[in-house]
Amino acid sequence: MINPKRIISFGSGKNVRGPVCYWMSRDQRMDDNWALLYAQEQAKKRETALVVLFCMVPDFLGATRRQYGFMLKGLQELEARLREKQIGFEVRCGSLPAKEVCAFVNAHRVSLLVTDFDPLRIKRQWKRRVIESGVVPVHEVDAHNIVPCRKASDKKEFAAYTIRPKINRRLEEFLEDFPAVKKHPFPWSRKPRNVDWEQVAGTITVDESVGEVDSFMPGENHAAKALKNFVERRLSRFRAQRNDPNAGAVSDLSPYLHFGQLSAQRAALTISAAKVGEDAKQAFLEELIVRRELSDNFCFYEEAYDSVQAFPEWAAKTLHAHAADRREYVYTREQFAQARTHDELWNAAQRQMLRTGKMHGYMRMYWAKKILEWTRSPQEALRIGVYLNDKYELDGRDPNGYTGLAWSIGGVHDRAWGERSIFGKVRYMSLRGCRSKFNVDAYIRSYSE
Ligand SMILES: Cc1cc2nc3c(=O)[nH]c(=O)nc-3n(C[C@H](O)[C@H](O)[C@H](O)COP(=O)(O)OP(=O)(O)OC[C@H]3O[C@@H](n4cnc5c(N)ncnc54)[C@H](O)[C@@H]3O)c2cc1C
Repeated sequence: MINPKRIISFGSGKNVRGPVCYWMSRDQRMDDNWALLYAQEQAKKRETALVVLFCMVPDFLGATRRQYGFMLKGLQELEARLREKQIGFEVRCGSLPAKEVCAFVNAHRVSLLVTDFDPLRIKRQWKRRVIESGVVPVHEVDAHNIVPCRKASDKKEFAAYTIRPKINRRLEEFLEDFPAVKKHPFPWSRKPRNVDWEQVAGTITVDESVGEVDSFMPGENHAAKALKNFVERRLSRFRAQRNDPNAGAVSDLSPYLHFGQLSAQRAALTISAAKVGEDAKQAFLEELIVRRELSDNFCFYEEAYDSVQAFPEWAAKTLHAHAADRREYVYTREQFAQARTHDELWNAAQRQMLRTGKMHGYMRMYWAKKILEWTRSPQEALRIGVYLNDKYELDGRDPNGYTGLAWSIGGVHDRAWGERSIFGKVRYMSLRGCRSKFNVDAYIRSYSE
């Protein structure tokens, strides 16, 4: 039985005997997915079919062909995997997902709607509309966090050190292995069986100027291989070299985690069992569990997570006090986008993101802090940071991104540092500091113009 603490129920809906539907959104995978496992458990109990529904919106939070392409290929693989288990997979296209879900529920007399957890505003609005329609009981399962976000904490946490003990205390209960999805005994037999992916792709109206990248191969199979590869070849170096963007020591798992093609819990179980030193494992699990789940906590409990209103009081005050400080360089959004600043290290980081769809984590901090330094206000810096991050990163539009930007520009989850111009007491990063940590010139050469 799935741990009931992962689940929260909304509404009662009509008492019908139809199939169970998993409205999948954030966790786009078959394996290691508590929401799918719970939906199957419920469908079996009711002796009914199980169908997964995905709502494709034509444009989503500034995503481009790059991210849509990655997601579509992952979903195609998922459809085939679910079919082998006699589980239906249906896609509905439209800009109002709640309307599509309600229409689907009514048309198929769905008896229970299961969905996954997402702290982002837009996803919560969609869900609220379905719940308020009262057409069906809705059960939400947190399939993304190891310790469910609502259970880890009931408030916005101050920093990693305040959420860490709360998460660690509950890991024993929640960091358990997954059962496998079974062949479903009550097949979903609706015709046509196959999704018309060409038709689905045709409904998407996004920015086509940002193309797909071949640096990351989409889908659950590739995600599993990426995890294996990291554990076997790089995990042992992670702790010592993760802040060196030339070292290739990070996991590169974020695109898979973002689209839910990989379960963070599966990654944590695999890492915990790996035959490498305890220090390396702990360093990685701190990022994968504590930092990642802190981001969900921030976005869930802070409605204004992508705005300067979310900055802590000390940071807002100090940034305000330095609002009129002279900026040596001021760039427009387009100059940033085209990597046309005076700083070749910054330009190289921007080019890494443009070309590969993923900037190294250490460079993301430098990159965002320099946007603060080279724009007229923290508001503008945050706006530009969010825009570029969500447009070019494969893992963009993620709680980690909004939190990372709020950390870099607005001191969220950080403390006050020595005061200086523009930044006030918000932590500063410099080119000189980077030179002392890694071979800056080698990185610039890797992403030269
Ligand atoms: C300005 C800025 C923007 C960012 N934008 C994003 C974003 O759009 N999407 C995104 O997923 N992450 C973002 N991050 C967080 C972090 O940089 C990335 O998660 C990481 O670089 C992804 O690469 P990786 O999978 O190789 O990471 P690894 O270092 O191998 O870490 C493994 C996993 O741990 C988690 N993790 C690592 N660092 C952090 C962190 N600082 N905060 C939260 N979780 C973390 C991620 O899930 C990551 O995939 C951002 C950070 C900053 C400072």
